[in-house]
Amino acid sequence: MRRKIIAGNWKMNKTAKEAVDLVAGLKNQLKNIQDVDIVVCPPFTALTEVVKVIQGTNIQLGAQNTYWEDAGAFTGEVSCVMLKELGCAYIIVGHSERRQYFGETNETVNKKAKAVLSHKLTPIICIGERLEEREQNKTFEVLKDHIENGLKGITGEEAKKIIIAYEPVWAIGTGKTATPQQAQEAHSFIRGLLKELYDKETSEVIRIQYGGSVKPDNISELMAQPDLDGALVGGASLKLDSFVKIVEGSK
Ligand code: PEP
Repeated sequence: MRRKIIAGNWKMNKTAKEAVDLVAGLKNQLKNIQDVDIVVCPPFTALTEVVKVIQGTNIQLGAQNTYWEDAGAFTGEVSCVMLKELGCAYIIVGHSERRQYFGETNETVNKKAKAVLSHKLTPIICIGERLEEREQNKTFEVLKDHIENGLKGITGEEAKKIIIAYEPVWAIGTGKTATPQQAQEAHSFIRGLLKELYDKETSEVIRIQYGGSVKPDNISELMAQPDLDGALVGGASLKLDSFVKIVEGSK
């Protein structure tokens, strides 16, 4: 039985002070949740303050990006070593906005995922097709490309620790959610790919989150699908009430 994991991707939202206010509310309202992993991924600038609030609670910290080298002349970048020191347990890798606006490729996603794993942190590796790819019936082709190239060289033992986030790009921030059937079809295909790449046992351990306009009113039916193991939530994770309802509705 895979444990559900709900992660809030706050993107470039919330100053450190605003982030503290939100996470203090989450800490209070989610304190009795025991059977779901809860992760918040604030911007880098809020990590040091947020970690102080969540210490000793059931909320874990994640970052939204990393660089693959540990240190060096890479102006503007942040490394896994730095993020681990701050208390991050998870790092999102290859979000579609990074692929779209910042030139992330399967190759850089792969380097980042391996760097995260080498520091014994958990990468949340984002994959998913764009609207035109779905319309041209290329969804499975894109998912295969993202999985095979994004996970290249990652061993079976390492793979058991990763989280895949299936995020159809057409559903991110658009209010247009994949139907539970569309999501299940993609997740089951991804699990099949993982089985081919590794083995059955490994494919059944890896958690696959769904992301794309998850809201309080669609979380339960999405989570009822057998291969959906949680959600990566953008917009609806920025408001206390909706993120609390999503975590509660995911059980
Ligand atoms: C995301 O950014 O990962 C995401 C799924 O965003 P939203 O929930 O706003 O669609």
